[in-house]
Amino acid sequence: MGTIQHAKEIIKTLKSEGYEAYIVGGAVRDHLLGLKPVDFDITTNAKPNQVMALFDARATGFKYGTITVLKHPYTYEVTTYRTDGPSEDQRHPDYVYFGTSVEEDVMRRDFTINGLLMDEHLNIYDHVSGQEDIIKRSIKTIGDPYLRFSEDALRILRAIYFQGKLHFTIDTLTLEAMGKMGALIQQLSNERIINELIKIIKTNHQLQAFETMLQLSLHHHIVGIEKTIETIVEKKKSITTDTFFTVCFYYDLNSMQTWKFSNQQKHKYQQAAELSKSHIKLNATHLFEYGLEIVKLAARTQSYLYGINYAMNKLEYMYAHLPIKSHVDLKMKASEMMALSHRKAGAWIKEVQEDMVKKILTHELKNDRTVLFMYFRETYLKGMQNE
Ligand code: ATP
Ligand code: MG
Repeated sequence: MGTIQHAKEIIKTLKSEGYEAYIVGGAVRDHLLGLKPVDFDITTNAKPNQVMALFDARATGFKYGTITVLKHPYTYEVTTYRTDGPSEDQRHPDYVYFGTSVEEDVMRRDFTINGLLMDEHLNIYDHVSGQEDIIKRSIKTIGDPYLRFSEDALRILRAIYFQGKLHFTIDTLTLEAMGKMGALIQQLSNERIINELIKIIKTNHQLQAFETMLQLSLHHHIVGIEKTIETIVEKKKSITTDTFFTVCFYYDLNSMQTWKFSNQQKHKYQQAAELSKSHIKLNATHLFEYGLEIVKLAARTQSYLYGINYAMNKLEYMYAHLPIKSHVDLKMKASEMMALSHRKAGAWIKEVQEDMVKKILTHELKNDRTVLFMYFRETYLKGMQNE
């Protein structure tokens, strides 16, 4: 987040010290499209240490020439003109050269619509025919698409993302190269893929983006998502991020286990996927066993996949009014069961507790000491004494 006012101030400060500086990339594109830019990136010939000296700033990507300038409450990325060296791991260029001209700097950027410059008076400088492509609403790489995708395959997914975000078409040659070079996506780190995928899911024209992925068979190069993408395109129904990943776990648990999610996220998606599979209408017992968040996610997944619809506020109400929330809330203790029956601890206790909880959840029993003691005597004690 940021404001154009702050961006202008940063440019003016740099220029007053004799440096060149421009707003570059997404902010210029969005400005020309009449959209409100989210972040402002600035490109300059000042070196990182020179930028640091002029502003309240943090060296966030010093090696790559990026300094984060703080202008309360926002931050601005100021990057030194650079040209990128080759990238071994397709993650970061192995080294960057600081460039001397802004023309060089824009040439390393991905798409013509992202290669425009703007000064503090909002004048546009276009070395890549980006304005023409904005008018044509076209996504086109700067330079040869085969070369640009081989330098960094994430650009293939970025093209898909910009299509979803801007509702632009992809230039014919760029599109062809994306299809032919799709297998390079497999070399990207799972973290980069996840981040880009989440950005794609959150776009306004998600369906169009997924249709292109399918059309180019790109979904085959990201393990775990194949069937999900096919389902979304077939249903022509957009999906939210959490539901997307739950559906992925639903169709391809083994592949999704290899993804770089936190254990907590994996657990959430896996449990929700498992619960969705049952096709059973979600009820109080599920809420007790899985908790509200997972049941709601399973409900959204069931609704997406089989049109079983739930009123979320009803599930919330049901959860808030569960007659028991956890085994430890049971009004009869394990020690009391052992004392009454003169039996040692064992698996039998868990069985009794589970039986009681189940009956409490279906309102066959009340979670009340007297009621539970009586039930225990009637149902279990008699049988045990006969053993
Ligand atoms: P968004 O609206 O999503 O922020 P953006 O165009 O600002 O879109 P960023 O990911 O914020 O995209 O990147 C800022 C700029 O950096 C881009 O406009 C582009 O010029 C350049 N860029 C980012 N990623 C790449 C890449 N992988 N290859 C080449 N240039 C890139
Ligand atoms: Mg941006």
